[in-house]
Amino acid sequence: MQIFNTLTRKKEEFVPNEPGKVKMYTCGPTVYHFAHIGNLRSYICEDVLEKLLRFSGYDVKRVMNITDVGHLSSDADTGEDKMLSGAKREHKSVMEIAKYYTDAFFSDFAKLNIKMPDVVEPATNCIPEFIHMIEVLLEKGYAYKAGENIYFDTSKLDKYYVFGNMSEEDLQVGVREDVTEDTNKRNKNDFVLWFTKSKFEDQALKWPSPWGVGYPGWHIECSCISMKHLGERMDIHCGGIDNMFPHHTNEIAQSEAFVGHKWCNYWFHVHHLNDETGKMSKSKGEFLTVSLLEEKGYDPIAYRFFVLQSHYRKPLTFSYEALGQAADTYKKLKDRVLRIPEEGSIDEAAVKEWHDKFAEIVGNDVNTAMGITLLYDVLKADVNGATKRAIIADYDTVLGLRLLTEAAAEAPAAEGEDVAEIEALIAERTAAKKAKDFAKADAIRDQLLGMGIVLEDTREGVKWKRA
Ligand SMILES: [Zn+2]
Repeated sequence: MQIFNTLTRKKEEFVPNEPGKVKMYTCGPTVYHFAHIGNLRSYICEDVLEKLLRFSGYDVKRVMNITDVGHLSSDADTGEDKMLSGAKREHKSVMEIAKYYTDAFFSDFAKLNIKMPDVVEPATNCIPEFIHMIEVLLEKGYAYKAGENIYFDTSKLDKYYVFGNMSEEDLQVGVREDVTEDTNKRNKNDFVLWFTKSKFEDQALKWPSPWGVGYPGWHIECSCISMKHLGERMDIHCGGIDNMFPHHTNEIAQSEAFVGHKWCNYWFHVHHLNDETGKMSKSKGEFLTVSLLEEKGYDPIAYRFFVLQSHYRKPLTFSYEALGQAADTYKKLKDRVLRIPEEGSIDEAAVKEWHDKFAEIVGNDVNTAMGITLLYDVLKADVNGATKRAIIADYDTVLGLRLLTEAAAEAPAAEGEDVAEIEALIAERTAAKKAKDFAKADAIRDQLLGMGIVLEDTREGVKWKRA
């Protein structure tokens, strides 16, 4: 299998530290708000990478953090703690905000058919580990105290700009909005390991430390949480491309200073999802979430399909028109899969041959678009229905498009003696809605509910299923 490694800026053959085993880490969300679909593009692509590794025979252990403290509004340690601003916005406690948005995040995972990482660890669980790492960095001379905070000293490294493609301009710190540069820093790229003298009087979460009561910086989380569960050598670290600097650069700096050797061999970065006005952000335009797509009648898996149609290393532009096209293509593809007759017995040799083909083609730097093309090739292949279904089920363990599973759940709804009655009631309800007789429409919905029938109003019309 080959993946593009941001560290070397080359596509490389993937070779794990330990044969057959992959240690993989993903930067998790800062749980102060809903994830927008641009963030979720990264998680979908990382999910495919993980599933592809498993498909290729690796035993994968994947770890993800949840940032519930220490991430300021600028990634370069300036501005306000995001969790605190979320809590203020919603008049709740920081922990209530963390719980609410963590649940919302994993609900999106389920809707998008993203596998849960093997380990999910909130930052606030690991304060002793952070303190230990900072103590070692101080002992080794990689950290210093200034203005009562502890900073990492980037001038102590032979090479700080590890990703090698950044200009001085890219490395400017404190460029965002109205934030002011931290004058305690000895070098402009130094970063906070521990905030003791908080700029924010009302910082909600604080812990005692050898340097006084305070809280950890953001970057230290990922280094500690990954080492806690994966040890001192990791195979693949994933994230969105905007995490490359300063976050991943700083993770590497402190981790390698701490362990004294190379820490992670492969860096996998997913590019931006843009909207038609440019980079998607929370501050402008409509805030695009999975729930919003659902409200508009789109199946979240159609969004997954939309993402998989393009390569993770290219920017992708979102529009409802483009999503609508993807949704139509997805629906047609799924219909064709559903119509494959259940005939013959599975030809295991053919399944193996198609499996290897997928592993080679999609294994060439996670080429999901080619994976979708292969699905069409399978549909046309000269093998019996049972074999086609088996190959598609095999591919879908990576693509996660629920091409066969959801079909099985939908099929029974079309059967049963009362179908005609149900359809007639639905038609009557649609007519009532059209005539703006909402009381009647609601009464029919309740009547159907009493019969165990659940209605769903979608872009394509009313769908129903048995509860
Ligand atoms: Zn991280």
